[in-house]
Amino acid sequence: MIYQRSSALFAAAKEVIPGGVNSPVRAFNAVGGTPIFVKEAKGTYLYDEDGNRLIDYIASWGPMILGHAHEPVVQAVIEKAKKGTSFGMPTEIETHIATLAVSMVPNIDKIRFVNSGTEACMSAVRLARGFTGRDKIIKFSGCYHGHSDSFLIQAGSGAVTFGSPNSPGVTQGTAKDTLLATYNDIHSVAELFKANKGEIAAVIIEPIAGNMGCVPPIAGFMEALRTLCTDNETLLIFDEVMTGFRLGKGGAQEALNIKADIVTFGKVIGGGLPVGAFAARNEIMDYLAPIGPVYQAGTLSGNPLAMSAGLAMLTELNNRPEVFSNLAKKTAYLHEGFEKVLSNSGLDYVINRYGSMISIHFTDTPVVDFASAAKGNNERFKKFFHGMLAEGVYLPPSAFESYFLNDALTFEDLDATIQALERVAKTL
Ligand code: PMP
Repeated sequence: MIYQRSSALFAAAKEVIPGGVNSPVRAFNAVGGTPIFVKEAKGTYLYDEDGNRLIDYIASWGPMILGHAHEPVVQAVIEKAKKGTSFGMPTEIETHIATLAVSMVPNIDKIRFVNSGTEACMSAVRLARGFTGRDKIIKFSGCYHGHSDSFLIQAGSGAVTFGSPNSPGVTQGTAKDTLLATYNDIHSVAELFKANKGEIAAVIIEPIAGNMGCVPPIAGFMEALRTLCTDNETLLIFDEVMTGFRLGKGGAQEALNIKADIVTFGKVIGGGLPVGAFAARNEIMDYLAPIGPVYQAGTLSGNPLAMSAGLAMLTELNNRPEVFSNLAKKTAYLHEGFEKVLSNSGLDYVINRYGSMISIHFTDTPVVDFASAAKGNNERFKKFFHGMLAEGVYLPPSAFESYFLNDALTFEDLDATIQALERVAKTL
């Protein structure tokens, strides 16, 4: 494949944007080479600036669950744009999407819209602190909850891809209130509760982790975590930025049958426009300004274009819930195909999958937490990534990310992907 124009565009971007990108993982540092500049996308295909067509397995890191440029979403945005793009005043559509979201997701009465997953998680933690009157939070190594200060402590995703899970610029004062536990290790959480009795406002977790590759919870872990939180009067925050409206209407709460106290959303809820949200039962949400003491705000929050894209997306998912089971079937098919190829290859590998999230780690031990994810062979991953790219398959450019399948993917696309792996595996 030719990446001439992407290379030139990347060089130009680097002159005026740090590293040439507005979000680090896009720069391909983990895998080397030239990032692909996208020209347009339709359904499951990306078309880059050099005229290459790629099968997309990242779907903008999750949001494009129905495929790119999905007609009802595009139409909703166009119609809305003609009527003005921002007012800083209430609009009716905000109530429509809020009502729909609250009806789809269990255990929430009210929802507040923000502009990104980062904002959603940052605000959820502030709310939890305000509500409980406590300062400390527990997070898990390798989980990513956005780039706000309290979360850049052993963070996953781009933070770890770039070797800065603890970022300079986060003060000691902030860092000391974020306690670290090990994913899937309930004893690590219990120890923190014991050592910080009565001080923990919230535990925040990715209910199915997607920022150290895909790492599902092991049997009993989430139930035990729920019990520990309840016993300690600590709020359990499910970061459903990836899982919300992807695993099913009710997200991970429904899939795992666990009740969270606060839930955060991003990605799918905005239909591809910049939207995040956080939600909880009335007792907690009514702590927010303007009715409660915890301040949180946003000039563009509830923006009409963003809300119209989100509403079109949620409406379709609500009316066609078979999308979720179809996606899970396609992901299982991909898993089976990958498994067949790799089991004959002599390579060490682990494939983790949950719903429409899946990832491969080149390692010989189960991947259940950050330490086991980090054992993966990165040199092999790089070759794998570039081999698949040369075959026209766009995978996440880091082992610390999950794939996100979309509804526009056909079984022919999946077969083409599996056949590509057959050729690529021989070169690994
Ligand atoms: N939480 C999770 C679980 C995420 O995966 C992400 C982003 N990938 C975020 C929060 C932050 O969202 P955003 O990039 O929209 O700020």
